[in-house]
Amino acid sequence: MTIALLAECPKHMEYGPCGGVELDGSCEVSPARCVFLDLPTVRWHGIERSVEPRAVDPVPEPVASAGAMRMRALLAIRPVLVADFPARALDAASIAECAGILSGRVDAVLAGDAGAARLQFPPSYRAHLIQSAGLAVWAGVNCRDRNRVALEGELAGLAHVGVAGVHCVTGDHTDTGSRPDAAPVFDLDSTETAALAHSAGHLVSVGESPATPPVERRPARLLETMRAGAEVCFVNHAGGAAPVADFIDAAQQLGAAQQLDAAQELGAAMMFIACVPIVIDHESAALLRTFTALVLPEGYLDRILAARDPFTEGISAAVELGREMLQIHGVRGIDLSGGAAPGREAWFSEALARISDELGTS
Ligand code: SF4
Repeated sequence: MTIALLAECPKHMEYGPCGGVELDGSCEVSPARCVFLDLPTVRWHGIERSVEPRAVDPVPEPVASAGAMRMRALLAIRPVLVADFPARALDAASIAECAGILSGRVDAVLAGDAGAARLQFPPSYRAHLIQSAGLAVWAGVNCRDRNRVALEGELAGLAHVGVAGVHCVTGDHTDTGSRPDAAPVFDLDSTETAALAHSAGHLVSVGESPATPPVERRPARLLETMRAGAEVCFVNHAGGAAPVADFIDAAQQLGAAQQLDAAQELGAAMMFIACVPIVIDHESAALLRTFTALVLPEGYLDRILAARDPFTEGISAAVELGREMLQIHGVRGIDLSGGAAPGREAWFSEALARISDELGTS
């Protein structure tokens, strides 16, 4: 059966396709074909405005935060170890507990959107809570829940908190996940938000999914986010080290390894952080399976879940895959990616810390 074409993108993306295209080319929120699959890669041409602002808001001069400067310095000298932050949403005690476990054992935590908990503290407040515990934050901001003015406010707040980085995602549609009652915003998309975050002085990252259609054009799309202002790409789960290496190689051949030209004024090569899936029990495996366009190395889950001690086996599997990822030319760090079952956040944090300990000494 031929899959119909959508009339328009449900996320109103300018720089699509998003990372939610299904492996058969259908849209994240519809059985119809993603509208971007049959279009050429959209070149960076600025932030779309249907109406010009009436007045220019008094935005502070963009200054790289202390956190961004520290992270750039680290990236320049050694691979960085980042971990998804597993604390319970809206629970300051859980945030403090998990931050206490991870502080000093990873270089930063990626505190971003979570399919299991759409309702979160605002990014800048969550970053403040985590950084108060001495742990650097790579803050996720999504375009689903806030318009451009709200995004600009969050980016200003995150600059004031002094986060290590800002990870820009368009976000899963509200028709997926736990809150279909909420109106989806999608005023901007991740590429446009990357430009805003760059203008606010942040170290900016985006995600890219090498295994998600259109596979052959994902590297070209990444380059357009680089032109918008992204400096770091978190490479999503693509089935192991080989497909990640192929993706990075293709992006570098297209230009990600070179400095951009003077008109684009960014002057830095794209840095890659490879995601490593973290599974330590059946619940964390179930949560990982909810990730959009997930492709894991063959046998990865079976190996862990069939083990007598999945916690220890999960740590070993992640360390092995992490070492492989760190061997890839262009990889400047890894992100320990996954989430915990309710009530197991501290235990999951301890697993992340042990994996990081082992990788840091290898
Ligand atoms: S898959 Fe994503 S980019 Fe494509 S039409 Fe659907 S929402 Fe838009």
